[in-house]
Amino acid sequence: MRAIVVSQTGGPEVLQLTDVNPPKPGPGELLVEVGAVGVNFIETYQRTGLYATDLPFTPGAEVAGHVLEVGEGVTDFRPGDRVATVNARGSYAEQVIVPADRAVAVPDNVDVQTAAAVMLQGMTAHYLTQSTYPIKAGETALVHAAAGGMGLLLTQLVKAAGGKVIGTVSSDAKAKLAAEAGADEVIRYDQVAGEELAAEVLRRNGGHGVHVAYDGVGKDTFEASLGALRARGMLVSFGNASGPVPPVAPLRLSQAGSLFLTRPTLVNYIVSRQELEWRASDLFRWIQDGTLTVRVGATFPLGQAGEAHEELESRRTTGKLLLVP
Ligand code: NDP
Repeated sequence: MRAIVVSQTGGPEVLQLTDVNPPKPGPGELLVEVGAVGVNFIETYQRTGLYATDLPFTPGAEVAGHVLEVGEGVTDFRPGDRVATVNARGSYAEQVIVPADRAVAVPDNVDVQTAAAVMLQGMTAHYLTQSTYPIKAGETALVHAAAGGMGLLLTQLVKAAGGKVIGTVSSDAKAKLAAEAGADEVIRYDQVAGEELAAEVLRRNGGHGVHVAYDGVGKDTFEASLGALRARGMLVSFGNASGPVPPVAPLRLSQAGSLFLTRPTLVNYIVSRQELEWRASDLFRWIQDGTLTVRVGATFPLGQAGEAHEELESRRTTGKLLLVP
């Protein structure tokens, strides 16, 4: 079978399509025929070396497909079942091993591409809006990169909870998408930054700071996010699309209004099987009842994983990118 193999860290060109031996499922594992692979920023961080990973490796953890074989002791899944996960062992491949206790069944009326597209970003948007800062009706959230994969999902979930969304984007086309997803206000943050951006957020919120800033952009938006919060607001710094945030002195949080700062990651919010199933089943239900629309911005064949990374890093993409072997 074929898989993408990274033998040295670097640019998108290090993602090499390679013939490899097909994997065998061990105890508690599933062998899954890959239907679609979610492409995520974390794989660009691993590819460049920002997040240390042993070499060589096959990137990718998010996948949906059908079970080919089950390992010893697996009772919850059978060959032919459609499953999805965020814990596959190298999903940029035609076949992949998935721990059975980290797989969820995909409902019949959710297609495999939608399932692959919603698992990682969807469960992240779920925990950010339901657990990290449970947004309530009447509250305002600042959502950066509102037309991105995370941004479109966050916007819809804040709106579904009755909140107000102030989104930021870098182009008119993205502004339109964010507004269509429900953003009440959309700011072109390529035109205002730092204190000016914070002031613009306050202006769009009737002169008040926001309750929460969901910030996956990182370095470039951190100061604006801090400045846009109301007293005791929460800055949820969940990503580094523009680069990692430099160290922050705790005293800054006091001076800016007794703020809360957290840097969450999905793995800590799907610790138990029950928590994983809660988040995944809510997402599948919301897709089926129309609460959530999952936008697949582009699909690429496996051999073009490098192009997919280039697109993601270029800021040109909207919604979710998938590899379809
Ligand atoms: P997106 O589709 O949102 O793409 C990133 C977007 O960030 C771009 O489209 C762009 O939107 C904006 N951006 C701003 N500055 C830059 C820059 N210098 N380079 C690239 N993009 C920039 O990606 P995802 O939805 O996949 O991920 C968004 C963030 O969420 C990432 O930081 C990711 O790591 C994080 N994440 C964190 C998780 C967690 O559990 N902590 C889980 C999943 C994702 P625009 O053009 O509008 O500025």
